[in-house]
Order: sequence, then C-alpha cells, then structure tokens
Amino acid sequence: MAMSPEPSDRPGDPCPEETHGGRPPAGQDSGGRGTGGAARPADRAAAEVVGARGPLSVGQGGPVAATAASATVGLGMPGSGPPPGGPFDAHHPPDAALIGDCVHCGFCLPTCPTYVLWGEEMDSPRGRIDLMKGALEGDAFDASSVRHLDQCLGCMACVTACPSGVQYDKLIEATRAQLERRVERPRAERLLRDAVFAVFPYPRRLRALRGPLRAYQTAGLGRLLARSGLLDRLPGPLRAMESLAPKLGRTRPLPPHVPARGARRATVGLLTGCVQGAFFPDVNAATARVLAAEGCEVVVPRGQGCCGALSAHAGREPEALGFAKRVIETFEGARGGAGVDAVVVNAAGCGSHLKEYAHLLRDEPGWPERAAALATKVRDITELLDELGPVAERHPLPVAVAYQDACHLAHAQQVRDQPRRLLRGVPGVEVRELAEAEICCGSAGTYNLLHPEPAAELGARKARAVLATGADLMVTANPGCWMQVATTLAGMGERMPVAHTVQVLDASIRGVPVERVLARALDGPGTALPPARPAGARPPRGGAPG
Ligand code: SF4
Ligand code: SF4
Repeated sequence: MAMSPEPSDRPGDPCPEETHGGRPPAGQDSGGRGTGGAARPADRAAAEVVGARGPLSVGQGGPVAATAASATVGLGMPGSGPPPGGPFDAHHPPDAALIGDCVHCGFCLPTCPTYVLWGEEMDSPRGRIDLMKGALEGDAFDASSVRHLDQCLGCMACVTACPSGVQYDKLIEATRAQLERRVERPRAERLLRDAVFAVFPYPRRLRALRGPLRAYQTAGLGRLLARSGLLDRLPGPLRAMESLAPKLGRTRPLPPHVPARGARRATVGLLTGCVQGAFFPDVNAATARVLAAEGCEVVVPRGQGCCGALSAHAGREPEALGFAKRVIETFEGARGGAGVDAVVVNAAGCGSHLKEYAHLLRDEPGWPERAAALATKVRDITELLDELGPVAERHPLPVAVAYQDACHLAHAQQVRDQPRRLLRGVPGVEVRELAEAEICCGSAGTYNLLHPEPAAELGARKARAVLATGADLMVTANPGCWMQVATTLAGMGERMPVAHTVQVLDASIRGVPVERVLARALDGPGTALPPARPAGARPPRGGAPG
C-alpha cells in the first residue's frame, strides 16, 4: 500500500496559506486582462459600500500600503518571473468550463476580503478568474498576475456569494498547483515556504518545537527582544510567527479508545490534527468527552498524520496526495479494520479538505473509491452532534458568546446553523452575531505568515467586529482563526476569552462554573499571550484599528 512521504513522522493535524512582493504603482498593474487592473466605477461604488479603499489609494495610505512590498512574500520581487513555456502545463489546468460559468456579475466582490481591502479588480474573484481564463488562452503570467493569485486567501466567501454556482474552490486549487510547479519564486520566499511546510504538517516536529517555545515564553524573551529592538528587525513573517504563537500548556495524549457513556449511538474516529494536537490539546480532550457523553464510542487512531489541507491549499499536490493516502489508511484500519461510522473533525480547514479527498485522489489508481468512502463519513464535530441530537444534560452557562464563522466551516462546508443551534441549546448562552461575518479574519492557513500585513488588517477588522458585540467570550471552530483573532485582540490591548464550540458544550455538560470557563479561555493553553510590547507602544500589526 502506498504510504505517505515521511514514515518517521506520522502527523495528525488541523491547520493554516500565501503572498506578494509589492504592488506596482497605481496604473501600472499588468494583471488586468480585459477588465484591466483598476476597478470599474460600479465596482468602486460596491467597494465603498463595504469600506474598501479605492484602487488609487493602494500603495498610498496606511501601514499596509506603505509596507506591502516587503511585508507580503511573493512574486514581483527580484528573481521572479513568468513560468517558462506558457502559464499552465497539461496536468489539470483550471477547467475552462468552470471558468465559463462566471458571468461577471460582481455579486462576489463585496464578500472578497482582498477586494474589500484594496478595491482592486484583479484582487477580486472575478479578476482572478479572468487571469485564469487569459492564461488558458495563452497569455503569459507576469509577476503581477501571479501576485494577485497568491493574494487570494482561499476563504471561499465568493463561492457562497456566487449566484451562478462558480466553483472557484476548484479553480484556485488547480491554479495554485500549476503555480507551484511552474513559477520560480524568489529565494527568500522559497526558503520561507520550505520552512513552513517542513514543520507545520508534521505533528512530531511541531511537538519538538513546543519545548523551546515554552522556554521562550516562560522566560519572557519576547519582551526582551522587543525592548532591544531586535523584534522590529525580524522579517514580517517571522514577526507574525512570534506574535501568533499561543500560550502552551501541558499535553496529554488522548487514549486510543474512549467508551461511550450509556447506550452506544455511534462509533466515531477522531482526527486529532497537527496544530490542534500540538497547540490546542484542550479542544481535542473536550471533543472526546462530549462525544462520549453523547453516546459515541471514540476511536483515536495512533500515528494519524496531517490531512494535507495546508499542502493542498498551497498547491503542493504530491505532498497533499501522500498525506491524504495515509489518513485514509489510518481510518480504514481503525477498530481492527472494521472502520468507524464517522470521522469527526474539529478544525474547519481539515474537515473541508477531507470532504474533497475523492476529487484530490481522482487520478490515483485504486484510490478514488477509498477516498470517496472516507469523505462521506467526515463530519465536523458540530454537524455530528447536531445530527445525533443531545442526550447529555446541559447545565446553565450564563455567557454572551460572539460566534465567529470559520471560512472553511461556513463557506466551504456550509455549516452555519449547527454550531449556533448547539450553543443556543445550552441554557444561559446568548449567541451574538458579528458584523461582516462572511469576511475572512486573515488567518487562512499560512496566509497570515506569508502575507502578514493584509492578514493583520483583516485580523483587526474581525477583532473590532468581535468587540462590537460586547460578548464575554469569542467562540470559533478553527485553530487558525482562534490564534489570529486572539492575538490581534491582545495587540489592541483587548485580551478576550476564546474557546471552541465544543469546549462550551463540554463545560455545560460537566457543570463547570462560567467564571472558570472564562478564566481558562483567557489564560489557559492556546490563549494569546500579552503582546511583547504593551498595547499603545506601537500600532497593531498591519494597521490601526479604528
Ligand atoms: S477565495 Fe476569498 S480571497 Fe479568494 S477570491 Fe474568493 S473571496 Fe476573494
Ligand atoms: S464568480 Fe460568480 S458572483 Fe463572482 S462575478 Fe463570477 S458569476 Fe458573478
């Protein structure tokens, strides 16, 4: 049986996506095919409605614009250039029929975070589809067009918004795989990407980082670096990594088998994830407890690896294929080969990727059926609990909750009502909605590492929306969103308790007092550390929240 690439490190993960290298001066954007690089008047009006800056302000206003060239890793930097021999090769270029579904209506524009930030046609779904179409017709990519494609967060808000059913998710994934094969990136960017992908999809390596990172946090080295000025001299991606690292607590591996409490209603496998497992062990523990309390026998297969979401979203296809095969084998082998009724995932990015395994493995002999069989069993934890219905008693938890939709749960999996229903099912919980809920927080896989400045602007936007609810607790379903928003809030001097949906359910089922829940969600493992520099000592990353 084919195995994944690294037998010595059998991962298990949920996860984080991309870049550019500076905008050309206004009016010199060569990315515009047909529609041109600037916004049309109607689109500019639409952008203003959602608070976008006009295209002419790109590169002129605010910290993002001022530092965009160096802050976002990507093409457009020395050493980059168009792929040799034409933009796409013959291996799954973006499907012309899917591209043809786009009728250029522009309904997707106000929900696209990069369009909202910059009001730039080529940084909208429609503009990016136009770039793909041009490339299919033989237009060479230049650094600018690649940058526009790199800057897409892969948030899939455009898929939700599109009335014509354009499958932008398939288009961007195919395009990214082409870019990964065909584009020679600048050395600095290559090194950064290699470093990110040498660590994040490997739980064992992530766990190995925990010791030094805990020592760094405990000794307060971040504050020393900040005082010495060294922090400011680090490249943007490294500064982003430093600030995003959550507080680390002790990890205790889950037992391989957790029996159901009471009558067994289902046997489920749990994907423990890379980032979730290493940085958010409390979420996995709460997931197992809630499943057991709701009558599920929980199987936690040993040696499960990364699901490959990070790799696939970055176009690293061979790597993603290897990871996917290992996950399939792992869950096929659960319960001595008898398999499980469902594979439960508690990280939105991983869940949405597992559900696409059949498409990913469509060319691999012997795998499509196995991939489809697994994909049909995949459930987000909130989907499964909602389907099963509650049997465990809920104790009151008087708390106002700001529920933040993770893009890969809401847009990619269309899971919106289930988490809200589950939260409202807890006596005392009041669910408050965020303004601009459809706009990505900027985390987007590794996006906030590879494009720290726009990610920070989106993070600040989301953090302000969370604060505006006046809630006591932010609840989300993805470790990336958690780190992004919690860190941004901390940078604004507004540290706030954050928890996963399943942790709220767990606390209610176990009768944990709300004060303890909030204290743990503010200072427990996975929470944001106070910023190395006190709030007010410098502007928040990427821009001043209003
Ligand atoms: S996936 Fe998100 S960032 Fe990319 S084009 Fe669609 S809405 Fe914009
Ligand atoms: S992707 Fe959909 S919503 Fe956006 S312009 Fe094309 S058809 Fe309209």
